[in-house]
Amino acid sequence: MSASTPPAPPGAAAPSGTPSSAGANADLPTLLVKIFGKDRPGITAGLFDTLAAYSVDVVDIEQVVTRGRIVLCALVTAPPPGLEGDLRATVHSWADSVNLQAEIISGRGDNRPRGLGRSHVTVLGHPLTAESTAAIAASITATGGNIDRIFRLAKYPVTAVEFAVSGTETEPLRTALALEAAALGVDVAVVAAGLHRRAQRLVVMDVDSTLIQDEVIELFAAHAGCEQEVAEVTAAAMRGELDFEQSLHARVALLEGLDASVVDKVRSEVRLTPGARTLIRTLKSLGYQVGVVSGGFTQVTDDLKERLGLDFAHANTLEIADGRLTGKVTGEVVDRAGKARLLRRFAHEAGVPLEQTVAIGDGANDLDMLNAAGLGVAFNAKPMVREAAHTAVNVPFLDTVLYLLGVTREEVEAADMHLDHE
Ligand SMILES: [Mg+2]
Repeated sequence: MSASTPPAPPGAAAPSGTPSSAGANADLPTLLVKIFGKDRPGITAGLFDTLAAYSVDVVDIEQVVTRGRIVLCALVTAPPPGLEGDLRATVHSWADSVNLQAEIISGRGDNRPRGLGRSHVTVLGHPLTAESTAAIAASITATGGNIDRIFRLAKYPVTAVEFAVSGTETEPLRTALALEAAALGVDVAVVAAGLHRRAQRLVVMDVDSTLIQDEVIELFAAHAGCEQEVAEVTAAAMRGELDFEQSLHARVALLEGLDASVVDKVRSEVRLTPGARTLIRTLKSLGYQVGVVSGGFTQVTDDLKERLGLDFAHANTLEIADGRLTGKVTGEVVDRAGKARLLRRFAHEAGVPLEQTVAIGDGANDLDMLNAAGLGVAFNAKPMVREAAHTAVNVPFLDTVLYLLGVTREEVEAADMHLDHE
């Protein structure tokens, strides 16, 4: 044993598998063995093969590979008294033989227990700058949080990294980081850690300017020659300046007399948002249910439901009589409060608690739904919506929402592999 190593208490020499391992006793001597260098197959097996000769137990292992370089950290119980020097020499000799660097640090116990209050912070950058990363990390520290782990979720179409944070409550962290994100121009989502995060099982989306790039009523209006007039009313309604229901009736009235064949034309004109198919396909492959609620029209949403394999869809219905649009909608209007009601109804039908739902939308009429959901995501939203939602995505790719749910690019690609050629 080297002179600098404190004498081991009797428990340290206990044979493998006994309850007196360092995991059960924070004061037991432990060795941190760190291996660094060019990654190749067999490194982990080689290290533990070397350590096995000393009857040490594994307390913790962390390994990461970045651009072909491996960092492998193994925390093990100290070897029996008198053998540490030999262990050190053997590990260094093994590392030399495979062109790796080794560092072995003596100490006691394990990591300190993580603080109370645990959150996942996802940061999306396009690109993700060093400046933004520094500011986010400093902001986490300023709220009293500690970063326990960092890993990359995706490198395409955005750079997405996740920080596992402890020691601070989710709400103040979310508030602090929302301000930072807005200033930096990156997207940050903060969600509470825990099993329920993996249990989010219903995603409900707005349609116009969220699932699709268009405002459906404007597509109809183009056929009626009143596109400009309708677009102005739509913009005012989405900014929250007009009562949604009044504005809907006013705009639909402008469509009176249009031939019903226009419905098929509008369906063919609808452009999905980039990433929409990937989002839905991945969610479905992970067992999520997916629905849409729209202040637009069932004539379009029913078609989307069928094409995309959605579980739920609800919207207003354009009244058609004698082959023509009457300029009226039938049934109860889907407005701001109606969207939140529909989220609750879908959640009930799906058997998913409301706190385990995700809602995505861009307009003022989505706000009640975004706030009612467990996670509300403002997608390329108007400023008042962005500020009021839990989190905002400001890159024009709908599949980036997956990263906010902690889904990795690998899982997205795995869903792709199951895809029948469309
Ligand atoms: Mg919308």
